[in-house]
This record gives sequence, structure tokens and C-alpha cells, in this order.
Amino acid sequence: MKPETKTSRRDFIRKGSLMAGVLAVSPAVLSAACAAPDKKLGIALVGLGGYAGGLLAPALQKTANCYLAGIVTGTPAKAVEWAKKYNIPQKNIYNYQTFDEIANNPDIDIVYVVLPVSMHKEFTIRAAKAGKHVICEKPMALNAADCRAMIAACRQANRLLSIGYRLHFEPHNQEAMRLGQKQVLGKVTIIETGNGFVYGGNPNAWRLKKALAGGGGLMDMGIYAIQAARYTLGQEPIAVKATQEKNNPDLFKEVDETVFWELKFPGGQKVTGKSSYNDNLGFLRVTAEKGKFDVEPAYGYDGIDGHVNGKQMDLPNINQQAAQMDDFATCVRLNKQSRVPGEEGEKDMKVIDAIYRSLDSGKWEKIG
Ligand code: NAD
Repeated sequence: MKPETKTSRRDFIRKGSLMAGVLAVSPAVLSAACAAPDKKLGIALVGLGGYAGGLLAPALQKTANCYLAGIVTGTPAKAVEWAKKYNIPQKNIYNYQTFDEIANNPDIDIVYVVLPVSMHKEFTIRAAKAGKHVICEKPMALNAADCRAMIAACRQANRLLSIGYRLHFEPHNQEAMRLGQKQVLGKVTIIETGNGFVYGGNPNAWRLKKALAGGGGLMDMGIYAIQAARYTLGQEPIAVKATQEKNNPDLFKEVDETVFWELKFPGGQKVTGKSSYNDNLGFLRVTAEKGKFDVEPAYGYDGIDGHVNGKQMDLPNINQQAAQMDDFATCVRLNKQSRVPGEEGEKDMKVIDAIYRSLDSGKWEKIG
């Protein structure tokens, strides 16, 4: 884990910032398909950075349907450390060069890609070709076209693909989906969303390199706010207009710092959003015909809270990562599409692609 990421993430959490047709009969495929119903499925984490080490590996100690079976890392010292800490056998440890040999490992049912964004496409496709089901972290890829290639590769290999959208398993956000989509307070008329944190890390980190991250605060944090608008309405936006602001152009030379957008939905709701690497925020505020609801902090790992017409939602904070991975293991066992499939990641990337086009053109841009 890079120290800078550790610091910024910890900060983020503390502030509650908001925050191939191939191998059809590989042993691993047979293992997942034939696993006894009470056997936990094996997950291999690819990329042992801040999120894998700080959140996913600990969550995998709490999961009921899956467990941490393997790791893929480019750093030999991490392999030693993780093997000891999590009791991972040598035969389940790979590096980026030996990764494809995972095809012959029946202990691994699911590969979880937790790498810089530019590497998501390659490792998702390689995992699917190795006969493994895949969870890929957000943002799914550098652009929507890459998302489509990843979806096609998983489909061709007959493997399930899911995106690490943990908030679909989080009670307050689920309540916002219910209130909005079922029009419990009447039709939603206004949505305001935002997500960000003050980036205080290493100026050389991958998050600040366009080639590795695809973009800045919008790709990393704004994606949650875009998705919240989509899941509150249960509709897809059709156009977007965006502007941006940079207070620290030296640090954010290659990527966006703060972005503002307005989304046009078919129902005519007024939907605005903000992403930032220079502001601690994380909110979803919704106005409907007969009342209001909000989730705030909305997008962090814990400390999530919400209100309906001013009254606090009486809902628990849960281990989102454990719930998300357990659900995917169940989907694999039942051969059922995840509620957050690759297509969900592609939809967000279509919006993000259009926001970047709008920043360039200064005009409304069609989505998709
Ligand atoms: P990180 O920088 O802490 O870890 C990245 C890992 O990738 C490191 O182990 C690093 O060694 C490895 N790596 C391999 N090749 C690399 C290269 N060329 N450059 C840099 N690192 C390289 O990042 P992170 O915070 O763990 O994020 C990883 C992914 O997880 C990202 O897609 C991020 O958006 C996502 N993430 C999701 C959540 C969530 O809540 N769902 C939270 C944090 C991060």
C-alpha cells in the first residue's frame, strides 16, 4: 500500500466523507459449479493495496459464502506477509506474469481485481479466460468502450462479472432506492449529490496520472454520486452539462480536481452533482412531491446516516464489503446475474465519458 493512499483513505473514512468461450471445463469452473452448497467459494485478490488490505481482506474474514483463498501481487515481500497473516498456501500465490496459471487452480472460484483503473480491463479479461468469475473494482475501466470489451469477454467465457458497488448492499442507500423508485413520497423532482475528499497524498500516485486513473475526483469519487442519482430514480440519464474548477493546478496537472454537472433524465427531474479531490463531502439529498429524504454521510464504509422528512432512518451500518462478496458468491453458486453486473459499471462510464466530453465542449452532451 502506498503511504499517501493510506493517509488519504484513512482521512476519508474518518471524516465519514461521505463518503473465451475457453476453458469451459477447467478444474476451477468445475469446482465452482460442483461445490457443495456449504463450501465457501475461494476468492483471489489481485493487487494488495489500500482497499484490498484495509477493507476487503478483513471483510473476507467475516464472509459466510466465500473466503480469501489466494493473492496476486507484484511485490514478493507482500506475498510473504499476506501468506503468513491470512494462512494462504504458496500454491495460491501468483504474480502478474504467472497469473494465467490460476486457470489450473480449483481453490480459486472468483478473481477480485483491485488494481489501478488502467489495469482493470486486462486483468478482468485474463481472469475470465482463465475460467474464473470476476469482481472488478470501480470505476470499471478507463471508458465505456473498455467496459463493453470486459463484458463481452466474460460472456464469451460464460463467467459472471460484477463491479465492486458495495452501496447496493448498504441499508440507507437501499432505502433511498426504495423511496425514490417506488415514489413513496411522490415523484422525485430534485436530486443533489456530491462526493469527494481532500487529496493530501503523494503527487506521484497513480490516482493523479491520467494514463493510470483515467481521470481524477470524477472517476474516483464522482462515480458514487452519479450512481446514486441513477439508483434513486431507477432511470438512465440522457444528457449532461459539466464545468470544472482547479485550485491546485500543479497537483492536479493531469486529472480533474473539482467537477460540477447537471444531468437530464427522461422524467425531467433537476439533478446536480459535484465531485472533488479538494473538498470533504458525501451526500445524497432528494426532494419529492410530498417530502424529502437524504443520505448523509452517504458513500463511506461506515457512519452512513439518513433522514426521511427530517426523521432519522432507523437502519444499521453493516460490513458492506462482506455483504457484497457474499452476495456474489451466492450468484456464482446459483449461476445468477449479480445485482451490480458489468453493465452497471458501463452505464456509469457512459455518463463519465459524456461529462469529460462536456468539459471539453462546454456544451450539453448526449449520454451513450
Ligand atoms: P492502491 O494504490 O492502494 O493499491 C493499488 C495496488 O495496485 C497496489 O498494491 C499496487 O502495488 C498495485 N499496482 C500494480 N501495478 C501498479 C502500477 N502500475 N501503479 C500503481 N500501483 C500498481 O489503490 P486502492 O485504493 O487500493 O485502489 C485500487 C482500486 O480499488 C481502484 O480501482 C479504486 O478505485 C478501488 N477502490 C474502491 C473502493 C470502494 O470503496 N469500492 C475504495 C478504495 C479503492
